[in-house]
Amino acid sequence: MNPIKLVDLKVQLASIRREIDSAIDNIFDRCDFILGSEVESFEEEFSRFCNVKYAVGCANGTDAIELALRALEIGEGDEVILPAMTYIATAAAVTLVGAKPVLVDVNWQTGLIDSSTIEDVITSSTKAIIVVHLYGQCADMDAVNNIANKHNLYVIEDAAQAHGAKLNGKRAGSMGVMGCFSFYPGKNLGAMGDGGMVTCSNKEIDKQLRLLRNLGSTKKYYHEVVGRNSRLDTMQAAILRIKLKYLDQWNNARTVHAEKYAEILSRCPGIELTNYHEGSVYHLYVIRHPQRVDLLARLHAENIEAAIHYPFAVHQLEAYRGLGYVNGSFPSSEYWASNCLTLPMYPELSSSDMERITSVINDFQSSKDNFD
Ligand SMILES: *Cc1c(COP(=O)(O)O)cnc(C)c1O
Repeated sequence: MNPIKLVDLKVQLASIRREIDSAIDNIFDRCDFILGSEVESFEEEFSRFCNVKYAVGCANGTDAIELALRALEIGEGDEVILPAMTYIATAAAVTLVGAKPVLVDVNWQTGLIDSSTIEDVITSSTKAIIVVHLYGQCADMDAVNNIANKHNLYVIEDAAQAHGAKLNGKRAGSMGVMGCFSFYPGKNLGAMGDGGMVTCSNKEIDKQLRLLRNLGSTKKYYHEVVGRNSRLDTMQAAILRIKLKYLDQWNNARTVHAEKYAEILSRCPGIELTNYHEGSVYHLYVIRHPQRVDLLARLHAENIEAAIHYPFAVHQLEAYRGLGYVNGSFPSSEYWASNCLTLPMYPELSSSDMERITSVINDFQSSKDNFD
């Protein structure tokens, strides 16, 4: 059987190859490789796409979060609240600015930050809450923003998995003080290398971000502050400008696939579906299953590349033992970490491949039922 990949970047590239080749040719003719007019245009277009006033390109999604925290002068002695179920980058950015990540659990059904637990961990050192729009769903922004307003905290969106996602008509990246995006190749909007972006609608924050991403300067050799070197490459911006034109269309295709998965798998007992809200962009299609190791092995045996996002919650990672949380601290996050399984998902996934995937899962489930 031909392999089915988790994400197939090749088919998508083939569909826009000519546009990309010609954009890169132009850059080779000009030999401008860092920032420049392509980055400016992409920032303009991405800010319009997200419905915010400003967007600032940077080197990757982890840097985007770090720059957002630095722009708010969050650092040593400060605490930042974030969900225990996320990719390590969310927590790492907090640690890298010298602040302390304070974890809260996620909602059992969605895997998104459980806003009802946030107030329990707010202290006089708390400065911000980072919500993570996990798998392309948006966190409950109304609830989080209300808590933040009440306690005078900033809300930063980790939108690295949610380019184009909408909640109550608003785009991911427009609902907090800043939105942080990654253009890692496998994301819904992916570069051909690393890239990142911070969105905001505050002029002063935009200015700070521009300084901080480029060693504290917006004019060569005039350094106003000490900043990072975290710039977006011209070539990546040129590629991302082309791909942005298709993003809504690609996200719509993901939605159609997700609806088909849900329709078929909802008839399959033992599979716990994630209840994606309307407007999700299905970066990952994640289900939960109590025998996920066996199911994963079966899918792999059938040449279907399924995966786990993520096998550990943040407090279970070696790197974060030092936070002092014990196992059992965040039951929902731990449950997600030990039961979640990611099925292939990308815009160009074919219906025949989806049929193959779902029938392997159905067969797995019925053979199990016969044994039980
Ligand atoms: C991908 C990702 C990041 C980090 O982005 P990089 O570009 O890889 O640094 C941060 N948070 C989440 C939730 C992500 O999925």
